[in-house]
Amino acid sequence: MSDAKPKTESQKALEKLGLRRDIDLALHLPLRYEDETRIVKLIDVRDSTPVQIEATVTHQEVSYRPRRQLIVTVDDGTDTCTLRFFSFYGSQQKALAVGNKVRVRGEVKGGFLGRTMLHPTFKAAGGDLPTALTPVYPTVAGLPQAYLRKAVLSGLARADLSDTFAPGDLEWLQHRQHKNGHQPLWTLRDALQFLHHPTPDVSLDTLMDHSHPAWQRLKAEELLAQQISQLQSRRERASLKAPQLQAVDGGTLHARLLAALPFGLTNAQQRVGEEIAKDMARRIPMHRLLQGDVGAGKTVVAALAAAICMDAGWQCALMAPTEILAEQHFRKLLGWLEPLGITTAWLTGTQKAKERRAMLALIESGEAQLVVGTHAIIQDKVKFKNLALAIIDEQHRFGVAQRLALRNKLHHEDMEPHLLMMTATPIPRTLAMSYYADLDVSTLDELPPGRTPIVTKVVNDARRDEVIERIRAQISQGRQVYWVCPLIEESEALDLSNATQTHADLAEALQGATRADGQPVLIGLLHSRMHVDDKKAVMGAFTAGLMSVLVSTTVIEVGVDVPNASLMVIEHAERFGLSQLHQLRGRVGRGAAASACVLLYSTGDAPRLGEAARERLKAMAETNDGFEIARRDLEIRGPGEFLGARQSGEAMLRFADLATDTELLDWAKAEAPMLLDTYPHLAAKHVARWLGGKAEFLKA
Ligand code: ADP
Ligand code: MG
Repeated sequence: MSDAKPKTESQKALEKLGLRRDIDLALHLPLRYEDETRIVKLIDVRDSTPVQIEATVTHQEVSYRPRRQLIVTVDDGTDTCTLRFFSFYGSQQKALAVGNKVRVRGEVKGGFLGRTMLHPTFKAAGGDLPTALTPVYPTVAGLPQAYLRKAVLSGLARADLSDTFAPGDLEWLQHRQHKNGHQPLWTLRDALQFLHHPTPDVSLDTLMDHSHPAWQRLKAEELLAQQISQLQSRRERASLKAPQLQAVDGGTLHARLLAALPFGLTNAQQRVGEEIAKDMARRIPMHRLLQGDVGAGKTVVAALAAAICMDAGWQCALMAPTEILAEQHFRKLLGWLEPLGITTAWLTGTQKAKERRAMLALIESGEAQLVVGTHAIIQDKVKFKNLALAIIDEQHRFGVAQRLALRNKLHHEDMEPHLLMMTATPIPRTLAMSYYADLDVSTLDELPPGRTPIVTKVVNDARRDEVIERIRAQISQGRQVYWVCPLIEESEALDLSNATQTHADLAEALQGATRADGQPVLIGLLHSRMHVDDKKAVMGAFTAGLMSVLVSTTVIEVGVDVPNASLMVIEHAERFGLSQLHQLRGRVGRGAAASACVLLYSTGDAPRLGEAARERLKAMAETNDGFEIARRDLEIRGPGEFLGARQSGEAMLRFADLATDTELLDWAKAEAPMLLDTYPHLAAKHVARWLGGKAEFLKA
């Protein structure tokens, strides 16, 4: 029996942040600081700066104009200030009773009616003032700052913070830093202790822009861990063997597939095809990311790589994140390869037992040269005869463990299959380097010819009626429309009710709409909670053109390909990341017809927020270039959010920036092989400290 106490919400939240070990807590650094070390006089306060005052309440009232609010006046002997609260409890009213002395913290705004603080925090006056700045940590819901502060403090006290830099090397780095006019580097212990509790005399700017010597030390540490780990993966991969898949000349599957395609390859497709072929011809496993904008034609590149693999007599697997996407790949590849005599197996979690058994037999005997499917491919039961190439589509939607599992499907002594990952969310090379231990990148930077660019419009939700009219027009011309419902964070149930409601509203609004061919106008609904058979039925009806409008919750099926769809409406577009919008938008503009994307944004009761959202969305109307959009998205959201929660959990760099910390990076690059070869125990300790259990994962 276990006597472990059940975890509290706060403990669970700590784990969610990845803060399990003492060292993880010690390395969880503040986002910013609050200065509670001093009390200032109102008369000395400059506008719009956060301050702490102590004053006596001289007046209190609840006003109802323009809306309900608590108004409190305080006086500290030098001046008065009005505190305003738009939401408040009775207990707060009591604490702010006239005559009480209070300590108030917030941002003072001067104005026509005198100084004001909006929603300040407050407590009774008096009591000790802290001697260090108060850290404010990155956190998640359910994890209060106070709890987190305590946890970090005790983690910091317990963690082993001894140096892992090679003896003598710190001096070398110190010297370089000094030569470049920086202050000497601090020890890890000093740096951490300072960053968690800096003295109030520090320049906040150097803390915020990470130029402070304490930050320099941490960045050097982090970069070193990254470099060691990358070096380890590179060395490890170089020691692994992979089947050598030599492209064969003439009369082969690869050549026949090329000849059978209804189009010629773009230059970019040719180029990346060659990069991939070259990798596969080597004895060490390929580890390559193929990135290309939506519609750039990654599938055919994958098919050609598969053909080389099959030409050499080995099996190939293609894994996609959703069943619908996998099925689309399956159909497309079947269409290309079946006429050429290739047997393709299909694997998904939902197929019937009998069919599944038949497929497993085909795969194990090697009769199926190509296997297409979902996560089902990586289950234990699936035994390949001789898997040599694993392709993962939309790789960012898979977890690391899943990618590793696919690589482990080739149990041939010490051999691994070649790995090709594909993504439509292009990442800048420096970012790729900081997120993947060891990865080569190929980029499709050219779209196939003859595409009509998608026209994107940013439209206020208040003009919904006009959008409905537009949908009618499309339907009457026999075209099809996607309507994407907003993402409601953390609540699938809400997502669903929202989509269901929108579906009903649209059905009503589109009553009396007609199709050119006289068929009834059908409006479908697709959401993540539906049974897969129902999803397929809806998707099938839409693909076949029976359904005119498809209402769908967010990103459930990013790769779908319905060329007759010419209009996409995205509701509450302000809730999406730009790259996500770009991917969604890529569902239209796949055929010859001119296509459009309408980004509906809602201002709600916050017109200013709405204005900011519109500004951001304008980028979508300005460019169709996924790389440019990714760049702007990255600027706005930062790498963690940009790559999605799953990947940010794997992020190697939290503090350092490969683009700007070049001096430290150069140092880390030189130091990594030295430490690894001369002081392997220090290198191991360093990587464990910084990457914890993640190091193994980062190889995937
Ligand atoms: P993505 O890169 O988004 O996965 P797809 O592989 O689905 O793109 O390709 C999009 C469409 O473009 C498909 O219908 C595909 O057959 C077509 N296509 C791919 N390459 C070419 C090309 N070189 N010329 C014309 N059409 C192409
Ligand atoms: Mg694709």
